[in-house]
Amino acid sequence: MLPIRLRFAYLKTAVSISSVLADKGLIPPFKKRGDHLFGPCPVHGGDNPGAFVVSLSKNLWYCFTKCNTGGDVVRLAQLLDNSSYTQTAHYLASLADRPPVSYNSPDSIDHTFQPFTRRLDLDSSVPWFRQKGIHPQTAKTFESGAYHGTGFLADCIAVRLHDQQGNPIGYAGRRTNTSDVLEHGKWKFPRRLPKKSILYNLHRLKINTPCLIVVECPWGVMRLAQLGIPAVALLGIQVSPIQHDILVRFPRLILMLDGDHPGRVASAQIQRILADSTDVHQVLLPQGKDPDDISDDQLIALSGYFSL
Ligand SMILES: [Zn+2]
Repeated sequence: MLPIRLRFAYLKTAVSISSVLADKGLIPPFKKRGDHLFGPCPVHGGDNPGAFVVSLSKNLWYCFTKCNTGGDVVRLAQLLDNSSYTQTAHYLASLADRPPVSYNSPDSIDHTFQPFTRRLDLDSSVPWFRQKGIHPQTAKTFESGAYHGTGFLADCIAVRLHDQQGNPIGYAGRRTNTSDVLEHGKWKFPRRLPKKSILYNLHRLKINTPCLIVVECPWGVMRLAQLGIPAVALLGIQVSPIQHDILVRFPRLILMLDGDHPGRVASAQIQRILADSTDVHQVLLPQGKDPDDISDDQLIALSGYFSL
């Protein structure tokens, strides 16, 4: 028989974390998104649906809430069963080479939503961007610009949207016609867009970004990007449970919502719901100002980003 050390080396690759979860009847609440499984933590037994994350390709897990720890399949089996090395080795050997597990698809994604993946020809040189202090090159990088065609994006400044893995899923449109804005609001989104699972710009952030600015809309993200400050936009003023679980993985958040009444109220609420899980600060913008209305110097000073 192999020494236990070598047996574990084999079991770590032969037994997937998902087959342990499946064997224990723990799979149903888990959702698969790309290479990751998300679900409540079976180790501490919480009910936060984003607490426990499994990397399928690396066969590693991590609990981002109470346990704040992670590991490989051997450690998971030990923690779940509170068993000895020998018992764990026997248990995992019984699961080796099981067929792949099937998962639920994310309930946040409406199956009737049809991603629009074609790339549109947009004009990033329009005065709109200059008025917001956004360089045409930045707008281009963010795949944003005036759409000169007809249909959904007619008379809009379009902004390309991506899912959490960075796959393009369509465009949001910022209306530019004043009467349209008054009647329908500033933004239009594709029908059935799973907006609650989107954080604008998330896929462009570096892994291990220590501090993140949270703004309402893409223009703020673009302005901050020009200053080398990482940011995401909520595409509104609400934080969904999925967005919450993504945001709390960052060690420090700075909320920079618009300086209007709804923005201020939302900012205080969001700080309350995130403060239990991460370090959250609020920045109050001058009354009536959005991040794209103020100067670069003011943005840097207010964010406090470089003085952390
Ligand atoms: Zn846990």
